[in-house]
Amino acid sequence: MAQETAFTPDIKFIRELKAAGADTMKKCYQCATCSVVCPLSPDDRPFPRKEMVMAQWGLKDELLKSADIWLCHNCNDCSKYCPRGARPGDVLAILRKSVIQENAFPRIMGKIVGDPKNIWQAMAIPVLFFLVILGITGHLNFPEGEIVFSKFFPVHYIDMIFVPLSALAVLMFAVSMSRFWKNISAESGNKLPKGDFLPSFMETLKEIMLHSKFRKCDENKDRGIAHVLVFYGFIGLAITTAWAVFYLYGLKWESPYPLDDPDILALLGGSTTMVWIARTIFKLVANISAISLLAGGVLIIKNRLKERGFETSTSSFDWIFVGIVLLVGLSGFLAQVMRMMNFPPVIAYSTYFIHLVLVFYIIIYMPYSKLAHFVYRTVAITYTKMMKRDVEM
Ligand code: SF4
Ligand code: SF4
Repeated sequence: MAQETAFTPDIKFIRELKAAGADTMKKCYQCATCSVVCPLSPDDRPFPRKEMVMAQWGLKDELLKSADIWLCHNCNDCSKYCPRGARPGDVLAILRKSVIQENAFPRIMGKIVGDPKNIWQAMAIPVLFFLVILGITGHLNFPEGEIVFSKFFPVHYIDMIFVPLSALAVLMFAVSMSRFWKNISAESGNKLPKGDFLPSFMETLKEIMLHSKFRKCDENKDRGIAHVLVFYGFIGLAITTAWAVFYLYGLKWESPYPLDDPDILALLGGSTTMVWIARTIFKLVANISAISLLAGGVLIIKNRLKERGFETSTSSFDWIFVGIVLLVGLSGFLAQVMRMMNFPPVIAYSTYFIHLVLVFYIIIYMPYSKLAHFVYRTVAITYTKMMKRDVEM
């Protein structure tokens, strides 16, 4: 006898999806063209057609447990071929944003960072926090004379803010990830072969580093290039940040590493050439990474404008993130130029302050922003590989 399955649509969830820009989902009439054209859809339980039905029916719990929405790399090949203009690629992007918000810990941060309407609140937190720190420590002014950023905002204060808050963000992210893992692995009764985790994870990392899935896209190949630029820009900047921390605490070198610093000279055998090389390599990696980030951000904007016009609410979450990526690269670059050209203190230090606020947004809000995709996607792909479901076409 056929078994009956009862679904309870979550009307509130449907309204939330529509408000976030997924209104096009109502046009879907289940032709499955999207699943056929998707270059990443596995043979076993293909997507995104089934996710479109789930979204139309408001099956929130089922969507929260879906690993498949994370296998999509948002190339929008499916949206291009959808005969109804239902834009399944964009709907999946909104579903992923909802999953990040639902798994966020604490939930309020998911709401603040995940909802584009709250961008000013999200920015006000670091602004007020920094102003209070500067006020308490007597640094609420723009020092005259040569531009040295640590005179305005001492590096030790920056570390005292960022190190514990980054650790807290990692902890919060770990809680979100454990919720997510529990949800997606519910279909296997949370009984996955433990020995399969490491090989599946390594295979996933290799795929991500090489961006091999992006190369399968037909309609929007430029998206892969933009993603590579942003991805490696971030990695380069993370490396240079760790590098700067090592210079500061390991070698006691204070930025901007002058050629005649006696400590640096002593460590490098008294050779100014060696100091110059150490300083130049550091700057080169930092600048190339910033340029990569900027170029990737510009390319993403160009692609999105080409794809569907500027005034869309569908991707406002993405727009904000792209804007912040661009601004963080630009403000860092400008702050450096202003320091070298000895700009008026009010302009140079204000630019540096803005840069720090944006860096705070990128690092501390990572568990709730678009950047969280990187971790969610890595976990979901690893899971599907463990389930032997990530079939290559
Ligand atoms: S989203 Fe478009 S292509 Fe996919 S099933 Fe619906 S109507 Fe067909
Ligand atoms: S956006 Fe691309 S990867 Fe995602 S479902 Fe559509 S075709 Fe597949």
